[in-house]
Amino acid sequence: MHSQTEQVYQMVCRRDPNEREFQQAVYTFLLSIDKIIDELPDVTYHKILERMTEPERVIMFRVPWMDDEGNCQINRGFRVQMSSAIGPYKGGLRLHPSVNLSIMKFLAFEQVFKNSLTGLPMGGGKGGSDFNPKGKSEQEIMRFCQSFMTELYRHIGPDTDVPAGDIGVGGREIGYLYGQYKRITNQFTGVLTGKGPDFGGSFIRPEATGYGLVYLSQAILADKKMDIKGSTCLVSGSGNVAQFTVEKINALGGKVITLSDSSGMIIDEEGINDEKLAFVKMLKNVKRGRIKEYAEKYHVPYIERTSEVANPLWNIKADYAFPCATQNEIVKEDALNLAKNKIKLVGEGANMPCSIEAEEILTSSGILLAPAKAANAGGVAVSGLEMAQNSQRMKWTPEQVDKELQNIMKNIYKNISEAAETYSTKDNFIDGANIAGFMKVSRAMLAQGYV
Ligand code: NDP
Repeated sequence: MHSQTEQVYQMVCRRDPNEREFQQAVYTFLLSIDKIIDELPDVTYHKILERMTEPERVIMFRVPWMDDEGNCQINRGFRVQMSSAIGPYKGGLRLHPSVNLSIMKFLAFEQVFKNSLTGLPMGGGKGGSDFNPKGKSEQEIMRFCQSFMTELYRHIGPDTDVPAGDIGVGGREIGYLYGQYKRITNQFTGVLTGKGPDFGGSFIRPEATGYGLVYLSQAILADKKMDIKGSTCLVSGSGNVAQFTVEKINALGGKVITLSDSSGMIIDEEGINDEKLAFVKMLKNVKRGRIKEYAEKYHVPYIERTSEVANPLWNIKADYAFPCATQNEIVKEDALNLAKNKIKLVGEGANMPCSIEAEEILTSSGILLAPAKAANAGGVAVSGLEMAQNSQRMKWTPEQVDKELQNIMKNIYKNISEAAETYSTKDNFIDGANIAGFMKVSRAMLAQGYV
Protein backbone atom coordinates (compact mmCIF):
# COMPACT_ATOMS: atom_id res chain seq x y z
CA MET A 1 0.00 0.00 0.00
CA HIS A 2 1.03 3.64 -0.52
CA SER A 3 1.89 5.54 2.62
CA GLN A 4 -1.34 7.60 2.40
CA THR A 5 -3.66 4.59 2.25
CA GLU A 6 -1.59 2.67 4.82
CA GLN A 7 -1.83 5.65 7.18
CA VAL A 8 -5.60 5.75 6.84
CA TYR A 9 -5.82 2.05 7.61
CA GLN A 10 -3.50 2.38 10.62
CA MET A 11 -5.57 5.29 11.90
CA VAL A 12 -8.76 3.23 11.68
CA CYS A 13 -7.11 0.30 13.52
CA ARG A 14 -5.73 2.62 16.20
CA ARG A 15 -8.99 4.42 16.72
CA ASP A 16 -11.22 1.33 16.69
CA PRO A 17 -8.93 -1.57 17.70
CA ASN A 18 -11.81 -3.97 18.39
CA GLU A 19 -13.78 -3.37 15.21
CA ARG A 20 -12.59 -6.37 13.19
CA GLU A 21 -15.31 -6.34 10.53
CA PHE A 22 -15.05 -2.59 10.02
CA GLN A 23 -11.27 -2.84 9.65
CA GLN A 24 -11.71 -5.65 7.10
CA ALA A 25 -14.15 -3.64 4.99
CA VAL A 26 -11.89 -0.58 5.07
CA TYR A 27 -8.80 -2.64 4.24
CA THR A 28 -10.22 -4.29 1.11
CA PHE A 29 -11.59 -0.94 -0.03
CA LEU A 30 -8.23 0.80 0.46
CA LEU A 31 -6.43 -1.95 -1.49
CA SER A 32 -8.47 -0.89 -4.51
CA ILE A 33 -8.16 2.86 -3.95
CA ASP A 34 -4.41 2.38 -3.60
CA LYS A 35 -4.29 1.78 -7.35
CA ILE A 36 -5.55 5.29 -8.16
CA ILE A 37 -4.42 7.38 -5.22
CA ASP A 38 -1.37 8.79 -7.07
CA GLU A 39 -3.67 10.30 -9.67
CA LEU A 40 -5.87 12.03 -7.07
CA PRO A 41 -3.83 14.61 -5.13
CA ASP A 42 -7.02 16.42 -4.06
CA VAL A 43 -8.25 13.28 -2.32
CA THR A 44 -5.08 13.14 -0.25
CA TYR A 45 -4.86 16.88 0.38
CA HIS A 46 -8.46 17.23 1.49
CA LYS A 47 -8.34 14.01 3.56
CA ILE A 48 -11.24 12.40 1.73
CA LEU A 49 -10.28 8.86 2.82
CA GLU A 50 -9.88 9.91 6.46
CA ARG A 51 -13.32 11.48 6.35
CA MET A 52 -14.94 8.55 4.52
CA THR A 53 -13.77 6.12 7.18
CA GLU A 54 -15.27 8.15 10.03
CA PRO A 55 -19.08 8.04 10.24
CA GLU A 56 -20.86 11.39 10.07
CA ARG A 57 -22.88 10.27 13.09
CA VAL A 58 -23.33 7.17 15.24
CA ILE A 59 -26.45 6.76 17.34
CA MET A 60 -26.55 4.07 20.05
CA PHE A 61 -29.52 3.65 22.29
CA ARG A 62 -31.31 1.52 24.85
CA VAL A 63 -34.30 -0.51 23.66
CA PRO A 64 -36.39 -1.66 26.62
CA TRP A 65 -39.38 -3.91 25.89
CA MET A 66 -41.66 -6.28 27.75
CA ASP A 67 -41.65 -10.01 27.00
CA ASP A 68 -44.73 -12.24 27.16
CA GLU A 69 -44.03 -13.12 30.80
CA GLY A 70 -44.13 -9.45 31.79
CA ASN A 71 -40.35 -9.18 32.26
CA CYS A 72 -38.40 -6.14 31.13
CA GLN A 73 -35.83 -6.95 28.44
CA ILE A 74 -33.12 -4.57 27.28
CA ASN A 75 -31.36 -4.55 23.92
CA ARG A 76 -28.98 -2.15 22.27
CA GLY A 77 -30.04 -0.21 19.19
CA PHE A 78 -27.78 1.37 16.56
CA ARG A 79 -27.97 3.67 13.58
CA VAL A 80 -24.72 4.51 11.81
CA GLN A 81 -25.15 7.51 9.50
CA MET A 82 -22.00 7.04 7.47
CA SER A 83 -22.27 9.46 4.56
CA SER A 84 -24.83 11.91 3.21
CA ALA A 85 -22.54 13.15 0.43
CA ILE A 86 -24.82 12.08 -2.42
CA GLY A 87 -28.22 11.79 -0.74
CA PRO A 88 -30.08 11.00 2.49
CA TYR A 89 -28.58 8.14 4.53
CA LYS A 90 -29.99 4.86 3.26
CA GLY A 91 -29.46 1.30 4.42
CA GLY A 92 -31.11 -1.57 6.23
CA LEU A 93 -31.81 -2.51 9.83
CA ARG A 94 -30.47 -5.85 11.07
CA LEU A 95 -31.88 -7.78 14.04
CA HIS A 96 -29.44 -10.51 15.05
CA PRO A 97 -27.68 -11.36 18.34
CA SER A 98 -24.28 -10.83 16.69
CA VAL A 99 -24.99 -7.14 15.96
CA ASN A 100 -22.40 -4.76 17.38
CA LEU A 101 -20.86 -1.43 16.41
CA SER A 102 -18.18 -3.03 14.22
CA ILE A 103 -20.74 -4.92 12.13
CA MET A 104 -22.95 -1.84 11.85
CA LYS A 105 -20.01 0.30 10.70
CA PHE A 106 -18.76 -2.21 8.13
CA LEU A 107 -22.25 -2.51 6.68
CA ALA A 108 -22.75 1.28 6.63
CA PHE A 109 -19.34 1.80 5.00
CA GLU A 110 -20.04 -0.72 2.22
CA GLN A 111 -23.50 0.78 1.75
CA VAL A 112 -22.05 4.19 0.84
CA PHE A 113 -20.32 2.84 -2.28
CA LYS A 114 -23.05 0.36 -3.14
CA ASN A 115 -25.62 3.15 -3.16
CA SER A 116 -23.34 5.28 -5.29
CA LEU A 117 -23.11 2.46 -7.85
CA THR A 118 -26.90 2.35 -8.28
CA GLY A 119 -26.76 5.83 -9.84
CA LEU A 120 -29.54 6.98 -7.49
CA PRO A 121 -29.15 9.88 -5.02
CA MET A 122 -28.71 7.92 -1.79
CA GLY A 123 -26.13 8.26 0.97
CA GLY A 124 -25.12 5.34 3.17
CA GLY A 125 -26.20 4.15 6.62
CA LYS A 126 -27.04 1.00 8.53
CA GLY A 127 -28.67 0.13 11.81
CA GLY A 128 -30.21 -2.57 13.91
CA SER A 129 -30.04 -4.27 17.25
CA ASP A 130 -28.67 -7.32 19.04
CA PHE A 131 -32.30 -8.40 19.57
CA ASN A 132 -32.78 -12.03 18.51
CA PRO A 133 -36.12 -12.50 16.72
CA LYS A 134 -35.72 -16.29 16.77
CA GLY A 135 -38.28 -17.92 19.06
CA LYS A 136 -40.03 -14.63 19.87
CA SER A 137 -43.80 -14.35 19.66
CA GLU A 138 -45.52 -12.00 17.22
CA GLN A 139 -46.41 -9.69 20.14
CA GLU A 140 -42.83 -9.61 21.42
CA ILE A 141 -41.54 -8.67 17.97
CA MET A 142 -44.14 -5.92 17.71
CA ARG A 143 -43.31 -4.52 21.14
CA PHE A 144 -39.60 -4.58 20.35
CA CYS A 145 -40.11 -2.80 17.00
CA GLN A 146 -42.30 -0.15 18.63
CA SER A 147 -39.73 0.53 21.35
CA PHE A 148 -36.88 0.63 18.81
CA MET A 149 -38.75 3.18 16.68
CA THR A 150 -39.70 5.27 19.72
CA GLU A 151 -36.04 6.28 19.90
CA LEU A 152 -35.04 6.00 16.22
CA TYR A 153 -37.84 8.22 14.85
CA ARG A 154 -36.13 11.46 15.93
CA HIS A 155 -33.04 10.65 13.87
CA ILE A 156 -34.68 9.67 10.55
CA GLY A 157 -36.98 11.20 7.94
CA PRO A 158 -37.77 10.91 4.23
CA ASP A 159 -35.11 13.53 3.40
CA THR A 160 -32.71 12.64 6.23
CA ASP A 161 -32.36 8.90 6.65
CA VAL A 162 -34.50 6.14 5.18
CA PRO A 163 -33.93 2.68 6.76
CA ALA A 164 -35.03 -0.64 5.21
CA GLY A 165 -34.76 -4.35 6.03
CA ASP A 166 -31.78 -6.69 6.41
CA ILE A 167 -31.19 -9.92 8.34
CA GLY A 168 -34.14 -10.48 10.67
CA VAL A 169 -36.13 -7.55 9.27
CA GLY A 170 -38.69 -8.34 6.58
CA GLY A 171 -42.08 -6.94 5.65
CA ARG A 172 -43.61 -7.80 9.02
CA GLU A 173 -41.02 -5.86 11.06
CA ILE A 174 -41.02 -2.91 8.61
CA GLY A 175 -44.82 -2.77 9.04
CA TYR A 176 -44.54 -2.51 12.85
CA LEU A 177 -41.73 0.05 12.63
CA TYR A 178 -43.65 2.13 10.12
CA GLY A 179 -46.85 2.02 12.16
CA GLN A 180 -45.01 3.36 15.21
CA TYR A 181 -43.23 6.10 13.22
CA LYS A 182 -46.54 7.24 11.79
CA ARG A 183 -48.20 7.22 15.18
CA ILE A 184 -45.47 9.33 16.83
CA THR A 185 -44.99 11.85 14.02
CA ASN A 186 -48.51 11.92 12.58
CA GLN A 187 -46.97 11.77 9.11
CA PHE A 188 -47.45 9.29 6.29
CA THR A 189 -44.15 9.66 4.49
CA GLY A 190 -41.64 7.44 2.73
CA VAL A 191 -39.45 7.14 5.84
CA LEU A 192 -38.89 3.39 5.49
CA THR A 193 -38.64 1.18 2.42
CA GLY A 194 -39.69 -2.42 2.11
CA LYS A 195 -43.19 -1.42 3.22
CA GLY A 196 -46.18 -3.60 2.39
CA PRO A 197 -47.71 -3.10 -1.07
CA ASP A 198 -50.88 -1.66 0.49
CA PHE A 199 -49.17 1.22 2.29
CA GLY A 200 -46.56 2.67 -0.01
CA GLY A 201 -44.31 -0.32 -0.68
CA SER A 202 -42.92 -0.96 -4.13
CA PHE A 203 -43.62 -4.04 -6.15
CA ILE A 204 -40.47 -6.21 -6.57
CA ARG A 205 -38.79 -4.85 -3.40
CA PRO A 206 -38.83 -8.27 -1.65
CA GLU A 207 -37.47 -9.91 -4.81
CA ALA A 208 -34.99 -7.16 -5.71
CA THR A 209 -31.76 -8.25 -4.00
CA GLY A 210 -31.94 -11.86 -5.22
CA TYR A 211 -33.15 -10.91 -8.69
CA GLY A 212 -30.50 -8.19 -8.98
CA LEU A 213 -27.78 -10.63 -7.94
CA VAL A 214 -28.76 -12.99 -10.74
CA TYR A 215 -29.11 -10.15 -13.29
CA LEU A 216 -25.59 -8.90 -12.54
CA SER A 217 -24.13 -12.41 -12.57
CA GLN A 218 -25.88 -13.05 -15.87
CA ALA A 219 -24.30 -9.93 -17.37
CA ILE A 220 -20.83 -11.06 -16.27
CA LEU A 221 -21.41 -14.58 -17.61
CA ALA A 222 -22.80 -13.36 -20.95
CA ASP A 223 -19.52 -11.55 -21.61
CA LYS A 224 -17.74 -14.88 -21.15
CA LYS A 225 -20.21 -16.79 -23.33
CA MET A 226 -21.60 -18.58 -20.29
CA ASP A 227 -25.16 -18.70 -19.00
CA ILE A 228 -27.33 -19.45 -15.98
CA LYS A 229 -29.41 -21.70 -18.24
CA GLY A 230 -28.43 -25.32 -17.82
CA SER A 231 -26.11 -24.54 -14.91
CA THR A 232 -25.96 -26.04 -11.41
CA CYS A 233 -25.73 -23.52 -8.58
CA LEU A 234 -24.95 -23.48 -4.87
CA VAL A 235 -26.90 -21.01 -2.72
CA SER A 236 -26.35 -20.51 1.02
CA GLY A 237 -28.87 -19.05 3.45
CA SER A 238 -32.61 -19.51 3.13
CA GLY A 239 -33.88 -16.01 3.90
CA ASN A 240 -34.98 -13.20 1.65
CA VAL A 241 -31.93 -12.95 -0.60
CA ALA A 242 -31.46 -16.72 -0.94
CA GLN A 243 -35.13 -17.34 -1.77
CA PHE A 244 -35.33 -14.86 -4.62
CA THR A 245 -31.94 -15.86 -5.95
CA VAL A 246 -33.29 -19.40 -6.31
CA GLU A 247 -36.52 -18.09 -7.86
CA LYS A 248 -34.68 -16.15 -10.57
CA ILE A 249 -32.18 -18.94 -11.27
CA ASN A 250 -35.11 -21.33 -11.76
CA ALA A 251 -36.84 -18.85 -14.07
CA LEU A 252 -33.69 -18.64 -16.19
CA GLY A 253 -33.36 -22.41 -16.50
CA GLY A 254 -30.66 -23.07 -13.90
CA LYS A 255 -30.78 -25.57 -11.03
CA VAL A 256 -30.05 -24.79 -7.36
CA ILE A 257 -29.04 -27.78 -5.24
CA THR A 258 -28.31 -26.30 -1.79
CA LEU A 259 -29.80 -24.03 0.87
CA SER A 260 -28.80 -23.52 4.50
CA ASP A 261 -29.39 -21.74 7.77
CA SER A 262 -27.16 -21.23 10.77
CA SER A 263 -27.90 -24.81 11.95
CA GLY A 264 -27.16 -26.76 8.76
CA MET A 265 -27.65 -27.29 5.04
CA ILE A 266 -29.64 -29.42 2.61
CA ILE A 267 -28.45 -30.95 -0.67
CA ASP A 268 -31.14 -31.62 -3.25
CA GLU A 269 -29.46 -33.00 -6.38
CA GLU A 270 -32.74 -32.85 -8.32
CA GLY A 271 -32.96 -29.11 -7.77
CA ILE A 272 -35.04 -26.83 -5.58
CA ASN A 273 -37.88 -26.27 -8.04
CA ASP A 274 -40.62 -23.64 -7.63
CA GLU A 275 -42.87 -25.98 -5.69
CA LYS A 276 -40.12 -26.79 -3.19
CA LEU A 277 -39.18 -23.11 -3.05
CA ALA A 278 -42.77 -22.27 -2.09
CA PHE A 279 -42.33 -24.67 0.83
CA VAL A 280 -39.09 -22.89 1.85
CA LYS A 281 -40.84 -19.50 1.76
CA MET A 282 -43.67 -20.78 3.92
CA LEU A 283 -41.23 -22.57 6.24
CA LYS A 284 -38.91 -19.59 6.77
CA ASN A 285 -41.23 -16.60 6.39
CA VAL A 286 -44.46 -17.82 7.94
CA LYS A 287 -43.51 -20.70 10.24
CA ARG A 288 -40.05 -19.35 11.14
CA GLY A 289 -38.88 -22.98 10.86
CA ARG A 290 -35.49 -24.55 10.21
CA ILE A 291 -34.11 -25.77 6.85
CA LYS A 292 -33.83 -29.24 8.37
CA GLU A 293 -37.58 -29.61 7.80
CA TYR A 294 -36.93 -29.44 4.03
CA ALA A 295 -34.75 -32.54 4.31
CA GLU A 296 -37.46 -34.31 6.27
CA LYS A 297 -40.19 -33.39 3.76
CA TYR A 298 -38.29 -34.12 0.56
CA HIS A 299 -36.03 -36.95 1.84
CA VAL A 300 -32.75 -35.30 0.88
CA PRO A 301 -29.48 -35.18 2.83
CA TYR A 302 -29.15 -32.71 5.71
CA ILE A 303 -25.72 -31.80 7.07
CA GLU A 304 -25.60 -30.17 10.46
CA ARG A 305 -23.21 -27.24 10.83
CA THR A 306 -20.54 -28.39 13.23
CA SER A 307 -17.38 -26.46 12.47
CA GLU A 308 -16.79 -22.77 12.01
CA VAL A 309 -13.96 -23.58 9.57
CA ALA A 310 -14.83 -25.38 6.33
CA ASN A 311 -18.48 -25.33 5.32
CA PRO A 312 -19.42 -28.49 3.35
CA LEU A 313 -21.78 -26.37 1.26
CA TRP A 314 -18.80 -24.85 -0.55
CA ASN A 315 -17.32 -28.27 -1.29
CA ILE A 316 -19.95 -29.50 -3.72
CA LYS A 317 -19.39 -29.63 -7.48
CA ALA A 318 -21.36 -26.98 -9.34
CA ASP A 319 -20.92 -24.17 -11.86
CA TYR A 320 -21.71 -21.06 -9.82
CA ALA A 321 -21.91 -20.20 -6.10
CA PHE A 322 -24.09 -17.58 -4.43
CA PRO A 323 -23.36 -16.92 -0.74
CA CYS A 324 -26.57 -15.32 0.59
CA ALA A 325 -26.34 -15.75 4.38
CA THR A 326 -23.89 -13.50 6.21
CA GLN A 327 -20.42 -11.93 6.44
CA ASN A 328 -17.30 -14.10 6.30
CA GLU A 329 -19.23 -17.27 5.49
CA ILE A 330 -16.54 -18.22 2.93
CA VAL A 331 -13.15 -18.58 4.60
CA LYS A 332 -9.79 -19.74 3.25
CA GLU A 333 -10.65 -23.47 3.36
CA ASP A 334 -13.96 -22.87 1.56
CA ALA A 335 -12.28 -20.82 -1.14
CA LEU A 336 -9.74 -23.59 -1.69
CA ASN A 337 -12.62 -26.06 -2.08
CA LEU A 338 -14.44 -23.79 -4.53
CA ALA A 339 -11.24 -23.45 -6.56
CA LYS A 340 -10.59 -27.21 -6.45
CA ASN A 341 -14.10 -27.86 -7.75
CA LYS A 342 -13.58 -25.33 -10.56
CA ILE A 343 -16.50 -23.08 -9.68
CA LYS A 344 -16.64 -20.44 -12.39
CA LEU A 345 -18.37 -17.55 -10.62
CA VAL A 346 -19.05 -16.45 -7.05
CA GLY A 347 -21.89 -13.91 -6.82
CA GLU A 348 -22.01 -12.23 -3.41
CA GLY A 349 -25.62 -11.91 -2.25
CA ALA A 350 -24.61 -11.41 1.38
CA ASN A 351 -22.51 -8.45 2.46
CA MET A 352 -18.77 -9.22 2.69
CA PRO A 353 -19.33 -13.01 2.62
CA CYS A 354 -15.66 -13.72 1.78
CA SER A 355 -12.80 -13.23 4.19
CA ILE A 356 -9.77 -11.34 2.85
CA GLU A 357 -7.83 -14.59 2.36
CA ALA A 358 -10.79 -16.25 0.63
CA GLU A 359 -11.19 -13.31 -1.74
CA GLU A 360 -7.51 -13.53 -2.69
CA ILE A 361 -7.72 -17.28 -3.35
CA LEU A 362 -10.86 -16.95 -5.46
CA THR A 363 -9.54 -14.15 -7.65
CA SER A 364 -6.08 -15.68 -8.09
CA SER A 365 -7.75 -18.96 -9.12
CA GLY A 366 -9.46 -17.19 -12.00
CA ILE A 367 -12.94 -17.43 -10.47
CA LEU A 368 -15.12 -14.50 -11.51
CA LEU A 369 -16.09 -12.65 -8.35
CA ALA A 370 -19.14 -10.37 -8.36
CA PRO A 371 -18.58 -8.31 -5.18
CA ALA A 372 -21.45 -7.54 -2.82
CA LYS A 373 -21.24 -3.76 -3.35
CA ALA A 374 -22.35 -4.33 -6.92
CA ALA A 375 -23.99 -7.75 -6.85
CA ASN A 376 -26.51 -7.16 -4.05
CA ALA A 377 -27.22 -3.52 -4.92
CA GLY A 378 -30.58 -4.47 -6.46
CA GLY A 379 -32.29 -4.31 -3.06
CA VAL A 380 -31.30 -0.77 -2.28
CA ALA A 381 -31.86 0.22 -5.91
CA VAL A 382 -35.53 -0.77 -5.69
CA SER A 383 -35.66 0.90 -2.28
CA GLY A 384 -34.55 4.04 -4.13
CA LEU A 385 -37.36 3.46 -6.61
CA GLU A 386 -39.77 3.06 -3.69
CA MET A 387 -38.65 6.47 -2.39
CA ALA A 388 -39.27 7.94 -5.84
CA GLN A 389 -42.76 6.42 -5.98
CA ASN A 390 -43.55 7.70 -2.47
CA SER A 391 -42.44 11.23 -3.41
CA GLN A 392 -44.56 11.11 -6.55
CA ARG A 393 -47.51 9.58 -4.66
CA MET A 394 -47.52 6.99 -7.42
CA LYS A 395 -47.25 3.23 -7.70
CA TRP A 396 -45.43 1.65 -10.59
CA THR A 397 -46.34 -1.74 -12.03
CA PRO A 398 -44.20 -4.80 -11.20
CA GLU A 399 -43.05 -4.90 -14.85
CA GLN A 400 -41.95 -1.26 -14.71
CA VAL A 401 -39.94 -1.78 -11.51
CA ASP A 402 -38.36 -5.01 -12.78
CA LYS A 403 -37.33 -3.30 -16.01
CA GLU A 404 -35.74 -0.43 -14.05
CA LEU A 405 -33.95 -2.97 -11.85
CA GLN A 406 -32.57 -4.80 -14.88
CA ASN A 407 -31.33 -1.50 -16.36
CA ILE A 408 -29.69 -0.49 -13.08
CA MET A 409 -27.88 -3.85 -12.77
CA LYS A 410 -26.72 -3.63 -16.41
CA ASN A 411 -25.38 -0.13 -15.77
CA ILE A 412 -23.62 -1.28 -12.62
CA TYR A 413 -21.93 -4.02 -14.59
CA LYS A 414 -20.89 -1.57 -17.30
CA ASN A 415 -19.45 0.86 -14.74
CA ILE A 416 -17.55 -1.68 -12.65
CA SER A 417 -16.13 -3.52 -15.66
CA GLU A 418 -15.00 -0.25 -17.26
CA ALA A 419 -13.44 0.94 -13.99
CA ALA A 420 -11.69 -2.43 -13.59
CA GLU A 421 -10.21 -2.22 -17.07
CA THR A 422 -9.19 1.43 -16.77
CA TYR A 423 -7.71 1.45 -13.29
CA SER A 424 -6.94 -2.17 -12.39
CA THR A 425 -7.10 -5.38 -14.39
CA LYS A 426 -9.88 -6.68 -16.61
CA ASP A 427 -12.48 -8.64 -14.65
CA ASN A 428 -11.24 -7.47 -11.26
CA PHE A 429 -14.76 -6.44 -10.27
CA ILE A 430 -13.73 -5.87 -6.65
CA ASP A 431 -11.47 -3.02 -7.73
CA GLY A 432 -14.02 -1.96 -10.33
CA ALA A 433 -16.84 -1.65 -7.76
CA ASN A 434 -14.70 0.07 -5.13
CA ILE A 435 -13.24 2.57 -7.57
CA ALA A 436 -16.46 3.34 -9.47
CA GLY A 437 -18.37 3.74 -6.17
CA PHE A 438 -15.63 5.88 -4.65
CA MET A 439 -15.27 8.31 -7.58
CA LYS A 440 -18.76 9.75 -7.32
CA VAL A 441 -18.77 10.05 -3.51
CA SER A 442 -15.33 11.67 -3.44
CA ARG A 443 -16.29 14.21 -6.13
CA ALA A 444 -19.38 15.16 -4.10
CA MET A 445 -17.30 15.50 -0.92
CA LEU A 446 -14.71 17.67 -2.64
CA ALA A 447 -17.46 19.93 -3.98
CA GLN A 448 -19.12 20.32 -0.57
CA GLY A 449 -16.08 21.50 1.38
CA TYR A 450 -14.99 20.31 4.81
CA VAL A 451 -18.19 18.67 6.07
P1 NDP B 1 -32.72 -13.08 6.27
O1 NDP B 1 -32.83 -12.78 7.69
O2 NDP B 1 -33.94 -13.10 5.44
O3 NDP B 1 -31.94 -14.46 6.04
C1 NDP B 1 -30.65 -14.65 6.53
C2 NDP B 1 -30.21 -16.07 6.28
O4 NDP B 1 -28.83 -16.20 6.58
C3 NDP B 1 -30.93 -17.09 7.12
O5 NDP B 1 -31.00 -18.30 6.43
C4 NDP B 1 -30.03 -17.20 8.33
O6 NDP B 1 -30.13 -18.42 9.03
C5 NDP B 1 -28.66 -17.10 7.70
N1 NDP B 1 -27.72 -16.50 8.67
C6 NDP B 1 -27.80 -15.30 9.29
N2 NDP B 1 -26.77 -15.11 10.13
C7 NDP B 1 -26.04 -16.22 10.06
C8 NDP B 1 -24.85 -16.64 10.68
N3 NDP B 1 -24.21 -15.85 11.58
N4 NDP B 1 -24.36 -17.85 10.36
C9 NDP B 1 -25.00 -18.65 9.44
N5 NDP B 1 -26.14 -18.29 8.81
C10 NDP B 1 -26.64 -17.12 9.12
O7 NDP B 1 -31.67 -12.01 5.69
P2 NDP B 1 -31.44 -11.52 4.20
O8 NDP B 1 -31.67 -12.63 3.25
O9 NDP B 1 -32.17 -10.26 4.03
O10 NDP B 1 -29.89 -11.15 4.24
C11 NDP B 1 -28.86 -12.09 3.89
C12 NDP B 1 -27.60 -11.33 3.52
O11 NDP B 1 -27.87 -10.47 2.41
C13 NDP B 1 -27.03 -10.43 4.61
O12 NDP B 1 -25.63 -10.39 4.51
C14 NDP B 1 -27.59 -9.05 4.24
O13 NDP B 1 -26.81 -8.01 4.76
C15 NDP B 1 -27.49 -9.13 2.72
N6 NDP B 1 -28.34 -8.19 2.01
C16 NDP B 1 -29.70 -8.19 2.17
C17 NDP B 1 -30.48 -7.31 1.47
C18 NDP B 1 -31.97 -7.35 1.52
O14 NDP B 1 -32.59 -6.65 0.72
N7 NDP B 1 -32.58 -8.10 2.41
C19 NDP B 1 -29.87 -6.30 0.58
C20 NDP B 1 -28.44 -6.44 0.41
C21 NDP B 1 -27.74 -7.34 1.13
P3 NDP B 1 -30.92 -18.49 10.43
O15 NDP B 1 -32.37 -18.53 10.05
O16 NDP B 1 -30.43 -19.73 11.08
O17 NDP B 1 -30.54 -17.26 11.20
